Amino acid sequence: MKEAKTLYVVIPCYKEEEVLPETARRMKIKMKSLMDSGMISPESRVMFVNDGSKDRTWDIIAQLHEEDKLFSGVNLSRNRGHQNALLAGLMTAVNYADMVVSMDADLQDDINAIDAMVEQYHNGYDVVYGVRSSRKTDTFFKRFTAESFYRLMKALGVDIIFNHADYRLMSRRALEGLADFKEVNLFLRGIVPQIGYPWTTVEYARAERFAGESKYPLKKMLSFAFDGITSFSIKPMRLILHLGAIVFAISILMLLWALAAYISGSSVAGWTSLMGSIWLIGGIQLLSLGVIGEYVGKVYGETKARPRFIIQQVLNKPE
Ligand code: UDP
Ligand code: MG
Repeated sequence: MKEAKTLYVVIPCYKEEEVLPETARRMKIKMKSLMDSGMISPESRVMFVNDGSKDRTWDIIAQLHEEDKLFSGVNLSRNRGHQNALLAGLMTAVNYADMVVSMDADLQDDINAIDAMVEQYHNGYDVVYGVRSSRKTDTFFKRFTAESFYRLMKALGVDIIFNHADYRLMSRRALEGLADFKEVNLFLRGIVPQIGYPWTTVEYARAERFAGESKYPLKKMLSFAFDGITSFSIKPMRLILHLGAIVFAISILMLLWALAAYISGSSVAGWTSLMGSIWLIGGIQLLSLGVIGEYVGKVYGETKARPRFIIQQVLNKPE
């Protein structure tokens, strides 16, 4: 058999002291069984990233590391949010691992799906997306808002995997591709499909949070969704341009109508010029905003400095 590959499981943690011990206990069993079956190497690790928690989260991580080298830890200087914490973990793990799985600390992601992910990695896939097969445990509100969000993203032309959050496996070369995306407004589930390489999905049932409460209150959720849209689509800006064109066209019609009313003598003095200018100016303003928006959109694309391509393989025989 070929040499076993090294797996790192990266888990961002923000004020997770209530769940961490249980997560560690279950992960230990899972990792040992994967090692015993030879699917991953004994050098595989579970890497907790402490996202500037003010509670005992880091103490627990440090203690776990002390007791068992299976556990490693990354401590961020302050709270930077889930996506940044996750990226910090991924970029640290890529130095040691052949493949990295990212998951939440609260055990909502079924850890038994890791087996299937690793298997798909061995089948030659670089990215394996964990996809929720059911949202039974979510409230109606959460399910409705989340699914509408995925639909809206699709409608806006963003390449995103339906019902996939941040539970996924990535190979080392996929992570190296991710490292080339220098953007500051991180929306990983939008970026990862941009990297390319062979990918597949693995279904799992989403469980309820094991303990503690969600670190994503509605306000954070909305701002995350808004970030996702504005980081990947300039369609909202283009809509303004279309709106401007429509209002401008209407303004011409209004102008003709006002002129006709003036000529037929059925209008009060001053009405024609007022009507005409209001519509004309409004239309011109929206149109100009749209044109400016197009240029801002280009600037936005340039400042992101995303890689323009990632090469998977080169076949070449020089000489
Ligand atoms: N998280 C983080 N930093 C934050 C907020 C959340 O690292 O500022 C982590 C959190 O510890 C958890 C994951 O992100 O491991 C997902 O958060 P949560 O489970 O609260 O979100 P939900 O499942 O409710 O969407
Ligand atoms: Mg959760």
